[in-house]
Amino acid sequence: MSEINGMTGERVTFGELVQLIVNAASSLMRLGVKRDEVVAVCSENRTEFLITAIAAWCSGATVTFLSASYGKDELVHTMSISKPKYVFLSPETYKAFYGTMVGTKMVDKFFIFGDSVTDTNLIKFNDLIKTYVNVNSFEPNCDPINGLAQTALILYSSGTTGLPKGAKLTHLNLITAGNQPRYVKKDLICLSIAPWSNTFGIICTMDELLYNQTLLYLAKFKEEQYLSCIQKYKAGFLLVVPPLLVMLTKSELVKKYDVSSVEFFYCGGAPLDITIMTEVKKRFKNLTHILQGYGMTETSGGLTEETDIENKLGSLGKVIAGNIVKIADVETGKTLGPNQEGEVCVKGPTLFAGYIGKNIKDEQDEEGYFKTGDICYYDEDGYFYFVDRIKELIKYKAGQVAPSEIEAILLQHPGVKDVGVTGKPDQLAGELPTAFVVKSSGSTVTDKELIEYVAGKVSSWKQLKGGVYFVDEIPKTPSGKILRRVLRDYFKKPASKL
Ligand code: AMP
Repeated sequence: MSEINGMTGERVTFGELVQLIVNAASSLMRLGVKRDEVVAVCSENRTEFLITAIAAWCSGATVTFLSASYGKDELVHTMSISKPKYVFLSPETYKAFYGTMVGTKMVDKFFIFGDSVTDTNLIKFNDLIKTYVNVNSFEPNCDPINGLAQTALILYSSGTTGLPKGAKLTHLNLITAGNQPRYVKKDLICLSIAPWSNTFGIICTMDELLYNQTLLYLAKFKEEQYLSCIQKYKAGFLLVVPPLLVMLTKSELVKKYDVSSVEFFYCGGAPLDITIMTEVKKRFKNLTHILQGYGMTETSGGLTEETDIENKLGSLGKVIAGNIVKIADVETGKTLGPNQEGEVCVKGPTLFAGYIGKNIKDEQDEEGYFKTGDICYYDEDGYFYFVDRIKELIKYKAGQVAPSEIEAILLQHPGVKDVGVTGKPDQLAGELPTAFVVKSSGSTVTDKELIEYVAGKVSSWKQLKGGVYFVDEIPKTPSGKILRRVLRDYFKKPASKL
């Protein structure tokens, strides 16, 4: 089994990976990296990324990932939360961020992946792994770790609800997440483009490693490269976020490639519309399932998921081992039964240890459940269904409008390439459902047509009474979630361009 870089074809077997991790870990310990110190990896997906993270864990350190797609302000904000002492950069992030990072005066040592950067202020990762330590006799000489309490990984929770916070995941959290049962039993080559710096990307990737699957990865999404990778490596299992599936339903290029190897999609991170699934199935002839998983940073990834054995169209699957879940009435906190919509609340060994600088108790109810801010329900068979995030629900007079529902309708219109829906403040109604639309190329669709199109399909309170705004792109997080906060900001300063 191996890890394949789909951009370069570089292939590392798991045996080689373990040896490289052991070499890097012993070098890090020799350099003085200690328990509780923070090692940051700031890089797009590449082989050294995972080696560094796992080696740092072996040396007892806490790891954090600084996204390669951050803006400089986000970078400084996240660094001020995690305070990394050691930072690993790729040539790309070196170019983009090294000066800013030096300016924070936080970092003791910088490391660089690859050989292309010749700056001698940085230690070469390739020098770290030149050490040879016999894997069978490797003994980490770090201070003992308390796996229940010690932070293994700091991830930054989705920015859709304000500035990112540093979520502390313990060793127990990661071990539990890594030991959850596998969604697909078959051995298939897995293709992933999710950035490893976010929860969906890293947890799914670690699952692949732990289950000894061949992992094929890309750093950035480029349509042709993605499709040609499927064809060349006969990828059978694709890890995706909903915008990628939407793209695959609309792309003309799919027909030019042999995608007959694809048997499963595993989709998570944001709501996925059933009609998109039907469209995808038409284009991938040997596809048997589009499986959905649902989870979040604070639950170390998966909370519920479908498997190749247990699945229902449109559901998020069942609760995964390691989570204790209840659905609670949003107003009263009372526990609800099947087919009743309420807030998802969770506890158990996957639940994070809290945000840095905050007390976990502030996020929990009196029974110790973490309140996720998501509205779901489950059916008689225990399958969960996503409704919306509490904060994202548009309140039009007394009625609630789920933005994802209106987005799914608009995406069915041939003139719409992408869309984000949010509430426009209104004195009378509270909020008016409003759509930001990216037109398909060559489309001449008008706002009036789209307003009528939606009006023909939904109840009166869900209609686009706030209108349609045509924009060049929909702001999204790297994991593909629509940044509705940014859309809402548009109403405060309409002259700004999205
Ligand atoms: P993050 O912590 O950035 O991974 O974001 C977690 C949030 O993404 C959850 O609280 C949900 O609001 C949303 N989310 C994750 N998976 C799904 C899914 N399958 N369907 C709908 N929303 C999802």
